[in-house]
Amino acid sequence: MNNESSPYVFDVGNALRSGITEVLLNEGPTPVRVGPEMIAVPEGKQVRVEARINPLGDAVMVDATLDAELEGQCVRCLADLRPHLHLDVQEVFGVDEDFIQGDDPEDDEVPPLIERDTVDLQQLFLDEAGLNLPFSPVCEGECEGDVPEPDTEEEVRDIRWAGLEKFL
Ligand SMILES: [Zn+2]
Repeated sequence: MNNESSPYVFDVGNALRSGITEVLLNEGPTPVRVGPEMIAVPEGKQVRVEARINPLGDAVMVDATLDAELEGQCVRCLADLRPHLHLDVQEVFGVDEDFIQGDDPEDDEVPPLIERDTVDLQQLFLDEAGLNLPFSPVCEGECEGDVPEPDTEEEVRDIRWAGLEKFL
């Protein structure tokens, strides 16, 4: 699979061999949609991914952030929503499976690996977006779906007071 151009793929070879922390920046269109059905960064939209590559001998710890503009719709009033998305992820990638021993012996998740000097953060960001983004997004602040029916009772009372004032 050729994913060299994915903004989620980072070359960790330098950090791994030099032992020096590196901060790398990728910007480009996301090859996959990031987020649930009603609000997401659509496929092809620009994302900015910054990764700090911390070497740990036969592994690297990657701290990464993703910044992008979301596209979605308020489920109440159907207004377009374009909020900013910021995600933080952290993961350790080993050069081979032996490196990472999970704290939980029952955790049979396969540890992520460094393949051909690169790490792919795509799944991390997809999981994080799934945890952070609402399935039913609504407007921040005022939403037209929230506007209450005109309170006619209040108006009636006001008229009544106005009428009484004549007699005071
Ligand atoms: Zn709304």
